[in-house]
Amino acid sequence: MRKTKIVATIGPACDTPEGILALVAAGVDVFRINCSHLDTDGLARSIELVRSAAPECAVLVDIQGPKMRYAGEETTLVDGAGVRFSMESLGLDNGARRSSDLGLQTGHRILLDDGRLECRITGLSADSIEAVVVRGGVLRVRKGVNLPDTEVLGGVLSDKDLADLEVARTMGADIVAVSFVQHPDDVTRVRGLVGDDVLVFAKIERPQALARLEAICAVSDGVMAARGDLGVELPYEELPVSQRGIALTALRAGVMSICATEMLESMISQTRPTRAEVADVSGAVRDGFDAVMLSAETAVGHDPSLAVRSMTRIAEVAERDVTMPNHFADSHPETAAVTAAAAALARRISADWIVSLTFTGYSARLLAACRPSSPILAVTPTAEAARRLRPARGVYPVVQPRDGNVARAIEAALGAGRAAGHLHGGDTVVVCASRLNPRSDADTILLHTVD
Ligand code: PGA
Ligand code: MN
Repeated sequence: MRKTKIVATIGPACDTPEGILALVAAGVDVFRINCSHLDTDGLARSIELVRSAAPECAVLVDIQGPKMRYAGEETTLVDGAGVRFSMESLGLDNGARRSSDLGLQTGHRILLDDGRLECRITGLSADSIEAVVVRGGVLRVRKGVNLPDTEVLGGVLSDKDLADLEVARTMGADIVAVSFVQHPDDVTRVRGLVGDDVLVFAKIERPQALARLEAICAVSDGVMAARGDLGVELPYEELPVSQRGIALTALRAGVMSICATEMLESMISQTRPTRAEVADVSGAVRDGFDAVMLSAETAVGHDPSLAVRSMTRIAEVAERDVTMPNHFADSHPETAAVTAAAAALARRISADWIVSLTFTGYSARLLAACRPSSPILAVTPTAEAARRLRPARGVYPVVQPRDGNVARAIEAALGAGRAAGHLHGGDTVVVCASRLNPRSDADTILLHTVD
């Protein structure tokens, strides 16, 4: 059973009912809709498409956030020369805000075109920025602008982001991912907008977020190592170390984690990944991420299902080689008490499954955070809770109405697991349930052999 989950970004290469179904068959757990490439109506259509074609998969709406793009004329930046950018040309401003209001300071770097070009700010006026070119080249329109040294003031949500979040909420998206998070408050603000029924993931793609990673994890349901922008804002040699830190901090906090961007990049056009890409996916599994993500490979690639199948094969082999320590229980002994004991028991006896009777999915998430060696069958009464468990490592959700009597509920859960083709006669299972109240934390562990 594969434990690592697969997130696939949808786009022109797969956004038909048949395309989505092919990706489900290849192993996709979560579909990501990237709002950077869609207007709000397009987002609504995409949610509808995934919901109708793949009702058991989770929908992740990735909110664009303040992605800046060069909007001036094409120009050649010469090393050592001075240059003046208007605020509009850097995509920083609609004319309403001044450079000093954005947090820009003399000495801060401006990175252009994914870090290929670099300037350093030498002076600021109300509506323009003076800089010296550190690494020059041709600057073309629409190329990305990054300000790694600047804590951009004024919040991370645009009017389009607010409209997209409202569509995500009303259409029942399972997860929203917030781009360019700098501070825990950015996550809390989004949670206030989408309500408690949507998971909120923080995209870690700025040094300011890395510096506050623990505090961001504490208010998030998950984090994404968004290596595209993070790899621009950090020196690239720091990326693998930062990525491990993101996975480890998420594990300690007991929140979900996704490793994203360029994982099988060459498969946009090729039929086999490079050795380095194989090692990259394998490394993300070893780092302990819940999920690995495909971006352009599935959105615009020549063979999206092939990219997914390659990723599942690499992940399956990689995870056979991995035994994860229980970082979550080490950091949260009280919260993890019962689930950590269930995970330890399952490991000791090499249980075939851990069966979690979970109402909202919370106790199954706690179990997954303990990174047991056995897969987790999460039996939950609602399709929503089941979908929200799709990104969690090792969790296989099954929907089954919940009996108020715990003995009957366990029996029904085991029956549902068999019906779903997961449990078989003779399987050793560790059942984790709540005896007192189905909505409270797990308080009961039962060792059982499936009839
Ligand atoms: P993006 O986020 O694709 O929205 O930029 C992912 C990343 O930066 O890695
Ligand atoms: Mn990004």
